Amino acid sequence: MAEEAMPDLDHHTPIFRFAPSPNGVLHLGHALSALLNAKCAKATGGRLLLRMEDIDIGRCTPAFERSIVDDLTWLGLTWEEPVRRQSEHIDAYRAALDRLAALGLIYPAFLSRGEIKAQVKRASSNGQSWPHDPDGAPHYPMDERCLDPLDAQRRIAQGERHSLRLNMGKALSLLNAPLNWTEGADNATITADPAAWGDVILWRSDAPSSYHLSVVVDDALQGVTHVVRGRDLYHATSVHRLLQSLLGLPAPHYTHHRLILGSDGRKLSKSEGASGLGYLRALGTSPADIRVLLGL
Ligand code: GLU
Repeated sequence: MAEEAMPDLDHHTPIFRFAPSPNGVLHLGHALSALLNAKCAKATGGRLLLRMEDIDIGRCTPAFERSIVDDLTWLGLTWEEPVRRQSEHIDAYRAALDRLAALGLIYPAFLSRGEIKAQVKRASSNGQSWPHDPDGAPHYPMDERCLDPLDAQRRIAQGERHSLRLNMGKALSLLNAPLNWTEGADNATITADPAAWGDVILWRSDAPSSYHLSVVVDDALQGVTHVVRGRDLYHATSVHRLLQSLLGLPAPHYTHHRLILGSDGRKLSKSEGASGLGYLRALGTSPADIRVLLGL
């Protein structure tokens, strides 16, 4: 990486991280993730890092960051300082993006969500099926990869809103071996399927970088050896493995843990008041009760 040197790693020490986004308060699902990371770090004599994934500058606030630190401290967790804040490392993500751009893998994408939706609708009314990613979002139209470069430059110069996307087909053509990752306690080999995501966004139109790019760069720069996170990010790992391979970064071991579901049977959201750690705490719930609630 250009901006920040890779860490000098003691390869025998496992490194775990808990990486919340400070765009809301922590709920029981976050507590499970944080406690599992701490438990694994303790069991393996490893290190635990805390990373604030705050590139979404419109939604992340210092107040949410403080409440996260408060809740984690209340739970009895400790981590190494300094806490890495993604908003302070945009140059590192830009350097990674530039490397992918130098491989000819990045293109500007001007279509809004509404415009993509309209294309999908038109296609389906013509009886054509349209691929959707594992989160249910339609793939970006492939013909948008081939915009006239001069025209695209002009639109950018005029300030037209755009994101930067990965040309998935071209990226896959650069791989010389199938992509896998190692998952869970039994070290299962999982075949990655990045194509399922289509041309993912690597640089957002409304925020610097993107979740996929920054998480991969940070895990490498922080020497993370073990990623323990919710099952909702299982499929995203395919994109992370692809980016690691293209950028020459090491692949951590992954564990995707069960999700805590709300009363409606869906994944908890940050607006889910009743499972918020602050709310439970105000009711008199103790950190020990939280561990029991989570079956830990
Ligand atoms: N920042 C992500 C979240 O809060 C987690 C990212 C990760 O663990 O890879 O859902």
